[in-house]
Amino acid sequence: MALPKRRHSKTRQAKRRTHWKLSVPTVVDCPRCHAPRLPHHVCPSCGFYNGRLVLEVKEKEKKE
Ligand SMILES: [Zn+2]
Repeated sequence: MALPKRRHSKTRQAKRRTHWKLSVPTVVDCPRCHAPRLPHHVCPSCGFYNGRLVLEVKEKEKKE
């Protein structure tokens, strides 16, 4: 197998990793209960999607 002749410096490694970053996920407001939810996802707070109940949420988790 090929073997690198010289090790890459810490600076070179850091430069490469400037593109290595986390992105903040997009969060939208639920139109029914205004809790933050992910777009195109059922609201985890009220269980509604597209104005329709699609998921029963337990009482203790409900925030209304
Ligand atoms: Zn909701």
